[in-house]
Amino acid sequence: MEPTLFSKIIDREILADIVYEDDEVLAFNDIDPKAPTHILIIPKKPIATLNDIEEGDLALIGRLQYTAAKLAKELGFAEEGYRVVMNCNEAGGQSVYHIHMHLLGGRRMQWPPG
Ligand code: AMP
Repeated sequence: MEPTLFSKIIDREILADIVYEDDEVLAFNDIDPKAPTHILIIPKKPIATLNDIEEGDLALIGRLQYTAAKLAKELGFAEEGYRVVMNCNEAGGQSVYHIHMHLLGGRRMQWPPG
């Protein structure tokens, strides 16, 4: 897999506004926010799309969701509510082929999404 933009952010070749990091996960503010809080939560392991997740990755995927909830609590909008989104492939709106969870909070979300 070619290094993606997000691999370069993990390796600090490209700077991002990092809000959380542990051994397996990195979270940073989206450069083009769609809500007052818009954080991207990514695994350090490069996995191109949701279709490429393997059984051995299940704990890692759970960690992404756990991190989203932890950040929402820390940022104060967990009780009010928030949205997490993972886009898959072109029709799903994916533009960076390193899986990522969007954490959107701080405003009322619409349904259905566009
Ligand atoms: P997706 O369209 O689901 O693949 O999401 C990719 C996200 O990456 C978009 O919301 C972009 O705004 C965001 N993005 C692109 N480049 C950067 C960057 N250098 N730093 C932070 N976020 C970025």
